[in-house]
Amino acid sequence: MKDNPYSSVTEDVAAAIVEICGATNVLYDHSAKMDRYARDQVSEKKYAHPPELVAKPRTVDEVRRILGLAHRKRIPVTPRGAGSGLSGGAVPVYGGICLSLERMNSILEIDTDNLVGIVEPGVITRDFDRELQKHGLFFAGYPLSREICFLGGNVAENAGGGRAVKYGVTSHYITGLEMVTPDGEVVRFGGKRFKDVTGYSMLQLLIGSEGTLGVFTKIWIRLVPRPRYRMVLLALFEDVDCATGAIPQVMIEGRIVPSAIEFMDRLCFQEACKSLGESLPYEQAGASLLFEVDGSHLTSVSEECGTIEEICRKSGAVQVFAVSEPDQMERFWKIRERIPWVLRSFGSHQTAEDIVIPVSSIPRLLEETERIAETYGIVIANFGHAGDGNFHTTPIKNPDQSEEQWDAIIPEILTELYRIVAELGGTISGEHGIGHKRKRYMPLVMGEAELKMMRAIKNALDPLKIMNPGKIFD
Ligand SMILES: Cc1cc2nc3c(=O)[nH]c(=O)nc-3n(C[C@H](O)[C@H](O)[C@H](O)COP(=O)(O)OP(=O)(O)OC[C@H]3O[C@@H](n4cnc5c(N)ncnc54)[C@H](O)[C@@H]3O)c2cc1C
Repeated sequence: MKDNPYSSVTEDVAAAIVEICGATNVLYDHSAKMDRYARDQVSEKKYAHPPELVAKPRTVDEVRRILGLAHRKRIPVTPRGAGSGLSGGAVPVYGGICLSLERMNSILEIDTDNLVGIVEPGVITRDFDRELQKHGLFFAGYPLSREICFLGGNVAENAGGGRAVKYGVTSHYITGLEMVTPDGEVVRFGGKRFKDVTGYSMLQLLIGSEGTLGVFTKIWIRLVPRPRYRMVLLALFEDVDCATGAIPQVMIEGRIVPSAIEFMDRLCFQEACKSLGESLPYEQAGASLLFEVDGSHLTSVSEECGTIEEICRKSGAVQVFAVSEPDQMERFWKIRERIPWVLRSFGSHQTAEDIVIPVSSIPRLLEETERIAETYGIVIANFGHAGDGNFHTTPIKNPDQSEEQWDAIIPEILTELYRIVAELGGTISGEHGIGHKRKRYMPLVMGEAELKMMRAIKNALDPLKIMNPGKIFD
């Protein structure tokens, strides 16, 4: 990286970190083993950058000592969860120390009297959910990457997910955080309490801060009773207009807030079905919607599902499949969850976006992406959490275009897309964050006064700018 204002990790620094974490928990001078810490799940290679050292602390005290050392020497530190992020957030763009939280992975407490769980940041989201299931509980704010992502990463990104339309995103469930500050101090905000207006709402500031303000070492999570009944409904529509028309009707006419409403365009749905060897009549689908409803009473859940089916048919659904058996529900969810992976098979020259717009603007957004795709001679895939207007619009390079052509047009494509999103009252990231992938586009959706306020917060909490530098803004 040019103009790197930071100190390098010297042998002395590496030895001091080995002293803190133990030799087996430090990678230094080992490029092969360090390679996976150079990237997250952003497919474009240009966003990768290796760390100089990877430290895997086990305790808050070890994190505190590493940050104290990095602060004294002015060495950048990039916290890392599972590396499943889609904005380059965990990529150490200035080198320095990658602080991997993978060993801080204990579930510390599940307090069923107060409905609060306390965890370390490296707990895999799915493992937490499995533990909660034993108690009839549920952490509703999880992302669809739950098989891999860590709870600490979810907090740092304020992750959303399939069920945000009814339950909200991660921030709705975080009641407390312990954090090590960039100069190595341990602070704690919140705890086992659901209301707190004691001073500034620091929790809400820290959630979604993308590792730029400190390292989370303990998390308090609000738990909710696990719904007893669920049903999933998959509706295949002839075209996009029919599918998007059904979304507001379910809520307005049906008076139902499903726990999920997922949209899949023709390309996404058909390719995901093909790759799974699905027997569904996927060729008939110009667009598809996946709904999930849940609740405490079987009759109300199946009535709601029946109402959604009726509305979808009125809106022109050509096929509707409603299921309640766990393996069938999983089968339909797998189609949706397969999409990001199947799109990757089209090559690394694509950009998985995360735009969010008011729900009523979905038809206009889809029209505009089609127009942009035609203008630039590329394909733009669309899928996402339609219930909250969050679309993972994915421009993909045309195989006839050269890499140079692609590199030249992609900033134009994104600028055009983001301008439309801003005009519709939306923004450039709903759940994946800015990282270093999207930071140049921040001024398209935010004025200088707003950016100045954010920078002032960063400067106040991290004056030496060692925490995950190069992210959100320069
Ligand atoms: C197939 C697929 C599906 C996905 N689906 C969703 C989805 O439905 N919803 C959604 O929101 N996202 C989704 N994502 C994106 C990603 O999984 C989430 O952003 C996830 O929350 C990142 O967690 P992680 O542990 O992998 O974090 P990482 O990628 O390792 O890090 C993300 C950011 O968090 C910071 N960070 C990590 N741990 C800490 C910590 N302890 N303290 C401070 N900062 C920290 C890092 O510095 C970085 O900035 C998906 C990704 C993939 C690949």
